[in-house]
Amino acid sequence: MYISQSFIPILKNNPSEAKIKSHQLMLRVGMIKQSSAGIYSWLPLGFKVMKKIEQIVREEQNKIGAQEILMPTIQSSEIWKESGRYQDYGEEMLRIKDRQDREMLYGPTNEELVTDIFRASVKSYKSLPQLLYHIQWKFRDEIRPRFGIMRCREFYMKDAYSFDISDEEALFSYNKFFLSYLKTFKRLDLTAIPMAADTGPIGGNLSHEFIILAETGESKIYTDKRIFDLKSEGTNIEKKSLEDLRKKFEEFYSVTDEKFNKDEFEKKVLETNRLKTKGIEVGHIFYFGDKYSKPMGASVDLPGGKKDFVKMGSYGIGVSRLVGAIIEAKYDEKNEIMKWPISVAPYDIGIIPMINKNDSSALEKANKINSELEKNNIDAIIDDTDENFSSKVKKMNLIGAPYQIIIGKQTDGDLVEFKEVGEEAQKLNIIEIISKIKKQKVKN
Ligand code: ATP
Ligand code: MG
Repeated sequence: MYISQSFIPILKNNPSEAKIKSHQLMLRVGMIKQSSAGIYSWLPLGFKVMKKIEQIVREEQNKIGAQEILMPTIQSSEIWKESGRYQDYGEEMLRIKDRQDREMLYGPTNEELVTDIFRASVKSYKSLPQLLYHIQWKFRDEIRPRFGIMRCREFYMKDAYSFDISDEEALFSYNKFFLSYLKTFKRLDLTAIPMAADTGPIGGNLSHEFIILAETGESKIYTDKRIFDLKSEGTNIEKKSLEDLRKKFEEFYSVTDEKFNKDEFEKKVLETNRLKTKGIEVGHIFYFGDKYSKPMGASVDLPGGKKDFVKMGSYGIGVSRLVGAIIEAKYDEKNEIMKWPISVAPYDIGIIPMINKNDSSALEKANKINSELEKNNIDAIIDDTDENFSSKVKKMNLIGAPYQIIIGKQTDGDLVEFKEVGEEAQKLNIIEIISKIKKQKVKN
């Protein structure tokens, strides 16, 4: 892709309305455009990143046996009246009337709708467990939308739902998602810590928020630092192994402020291990038993002939919020350098040919390199404009491809100047460059 032909509306300066670095960068480099308060359009650069995140989330859901569906954004109020949440949800819910005067709403979450789908066709324990998920836009009329897509009104979420025959089986499902979340965030090159959390309007009795550390985060957290060193490697998708994984994490105190208790914190965590800081919630999992299945009459036949309400959990990941969360974690604001993890980068590599008015040889060389990269599925963006070198580098640093090639005076023969952002430049030939990038891609 040539920069001259791309739709990447870069701003010269930081937009003054943006208070945190992810919002600044996303506006600056034209990833999003606000259309009204808390509602955004996603432009090519932002959309590419979000779609790559979505795909990783999807793959990790599929790995634990969850099945993808797609529920609508607009729901009928009827099912929400059945669960009793139509009133309770309050003003965050966007309520709409259709031409027949029927009360509809733009879904803020999907427990009711998925329970309705489930109860219509599953009647026996023999079909359990069922893990269903979708990746769909949500609307919550947040009182104070802010920080760009971090807390907006329309946002993109992966929400999954589990259906089981007993508490024990339901916890097995819960633990599958627990593992899947650790793996998902790891592939996004984020350290997300599971923290015991309140269940809020979703209700229920077991819940973890997955939080990444960031000064600009809205969640206050209290942890034992040692939790950051835990790994999920070696965990199999079987009951015991998953249970051990969750226990391993739960051994260390880690809570959000709703669950914080000073005495407990000081008793359980040595002073040197205490960490009080802020973070961004990127995922949230809940176990709530029959909270929805009971009022909505979603029951199944049990082995002995009796019936019981199905035991449910729900599991959310803020796919659009993650775009901002990764920027918060990776953007060097002072030097204005972004380096996307290769797994979600909008481009794998940026090519900067130094173009003179009457000499197109650098651009020709860039094109040649690009066709080799393309053959190897490496996605490059070429700055074919005639701007000066330093402004081209600045632009490329904002776009954030993790690798750069510079074709200029230093270029001799087959060797070009190559660098991984943040590291020293090296002179390499195209074969070496391709192998380096491919190695990184495989790791992810
Ligand atoms: P928060 O406490 O941040 O409002 P929540 O507990 O209401 O989040 P959930 O209902 O668990 O969120 O939604 C699942 C995920 O969706 C959250 O972990 C978060 O990543 C994302 N999310 C929730 N609300 C928003 C929002 N207004 N804008 C962007 N992402 C959001
Ligand atoms: Mg909320």
